[in-house]
Amino acid sequence: DIVDFVKFFHRIIDRFELMKSKDVQFIRQIPPGPLYTELDMDKMTQVIDNIISNALKYSPDGGNVRFTVLPEDDHIKIAVSDEGMGIPEANVKRIFERFYRADKARSRAMGGTGLGLAIAKEMIQAHGGHIWAESEEGKGTTIFFTLPFEVEEAGEWD
Ligand code: ATP
Ligand code: MG
Repeated sequence: DIVDFVKFFHRIIDRFELMKSKDVQFIRQIPPGPLYTELDMDKMTQVIDNIISNALKYSPDGGNVRFTVLPEDDHIKIAVSDEGMGIPEANVKRIFERFYRADKARSRAMGGTGLGLAIAKEMIQAHGGHIWAESEEGKGTTIFFTLPFEVEEAGEWD
């Protein structure tokens, strides 16, 4: 489906904002839109749910989770940042591997299977986008992904 990503993203964030039990502040840096992209709404909801769940799971009480949407030449760049414990530099790339958990003891306590981001990577790539992470231990983590702008059918203008 061709979807306005701005509206779609706000709807997902709203759902988390209503459900969250932690004292975490959401900050939205999202332009008014619309920003059209072609996506499978169920699959993209699953991807974004996992990224936001991770951000909440690893956020300290009183922390901020920041949502950023940036239109860049032929794609939309999306970022979800938290102020959690972060991920050791050597492991940042590995979080997209199946069953990878950054820290065995910590992750056991936190629950989860370690599949969420591996699935996210597959799905983002299937949508023609990229996904990556930047993290600093003790400061927080940002997950970035891109989605191509919907390319309009060439018109029949002679
Ligand atoms: P699942 O999503 O399958 O329930 P999970 O959350 O452990 O389990 P992923 O979402 O794939 O799995 O994340 C993989 C690992 O990456 C996590 O176990 C955690 O160690 C690390 N990680 C992911 N997001 C963050 C984050 N925002 N802050 C710190 N570590 C993170
Ligand atoms: Mg997860």
